[in-house]
Amino acid sequence: MAFFEMAKTAIGTVLRKPATRRYPSVAPKSTPLTRGRVSIDPSRCISCGMCMKKCPSGAICVRKEEKTWSIDRLKCVVCNCCVEVCPAHCLTMETSYFPCVTEHSAIDVHAITYVKPERPKRPETGEKAGEGTAESS
Ligand code: SF4
Ligand code: SF4
Repeated sequence: MAFFEMAKTAIGTVLRKPATRRYPSVAPKSTPLTRGRVSIDPSRCISCGMCMKKCPSGAICVRKEEKTWSIDRLKCVVCNCCVEVCPAHCLTMETSYFPCVTEHSAIDVHAITYVKPERPKRPETGEKAGEGTAESS
């Protein structure tokens, strides 16, 4: 009896579709909630470094002087912390997966192109503050 049970299981397994996919040759399914890869809009990054501080695996490096933002794809555990903490909302979690990498040189470096907007100039009044109060008293 045990033999027939085993044969039944073996035949059923052979006839069934595999439970796994041949990634990357077969594209994985993604949903709106899939965490694929982190991407950045460098024109909005203010180099505050919050993402670097919050990243649990040390995958992000922000160099303010050199105006670069980089991510080590092999270190990233796709936790979404950096996306949630970014005050400029320039980080997004894409639903597509990053192509397979096999070497530890998968560091994406982005040049930050954000330009701080100039403060609007104060209108020149010609009178110093407090002059009016001195005359009225
Ligand atoms: S998703 Fe998580 S692990 Fe990946 S870079 Fe952002 S904070 Fe770091
Ligand atoms: S990506 Fe966002 S959190 Fe990271 S340095 Fe730029 S503005 Fe700050």
